[in-house]
Amino acid sequence: MKKGLLIIISGPSGVGKGTVRKYFMNDDSLRLAYSISMTTRQPREGERDKVDYIFTTREKFEEAIAKGELLEWAEFVGNYYGTPLSQVEKLRNEGKNVLLEIEVQGADQVRAKCPDALSIFIIPPSMEKLEKRIRGRRSEPEEIVQQRLAKAENEMKMVCNYKYIVCNEDPQLAAELISSIIKRHMYVEENV
Ligand code: 5GP
Repeated sequence: MKKGLLIIISGPSGVGKGTVRKYFMNDDSLRLAYSISMTTRQPREGERDKVDYIFTTREKFEEAIAKGELLEWAEFVGNYYGTPLSQVEKLRNEGKNVLLEIEVQGADQVRAKCPDALSIFIIPPSMEKLEKRIRGRRSEPEEIVQQRLAKAENEMKMVCNYKYIVCNEDPQLAAELISSIIKRHMYVEENV
């Protein structure tokens, strides 16, 4: 069986990565598996442990780094986020196309280790709309909102490192575009 693709999706926080993902994730023809990240951030309302993230402590996260258990990791607005390596390898070996929803520093690390990774960056229709979406979540204090906005400005400068750029003006359309990109790469992989 051929190993599955490694797909990186990045984009500033609040751009709607999760919303877009929901439109294509259950399309069986894409054979997707979502890589559940580890994080030290507190769960938001409605987020479930081991479904949305593996919520953990700084000590346990640092232990995972020291043991080499993470494919990549980064510190983002005061918290650690990282991708457990064993889970990604297991799924890819089962032929699944594994989706990593990660920020730009982590994406750099993955590209360095796996140059064949398919990378897609989701941009907002405008920075004003992005700010509105981040504030709309109402889950974080103003200081964190400001840090996320500053981070977003910096992340937008990294788009040229990605193979594809998709604008989330309309989540369903953005999902259709991403789905077409994945299908095309699956086709190419299967026919080389
Ligand atoms: P949030 O706190 O909004 O859920 O996530 C903050 C940022 O961290 C988002 O850009 C998200 O895509 C990114 N992120 C989530 N999981 C990972 C991960 O495993 N590694 C890295 N590098 N970034 C992640």
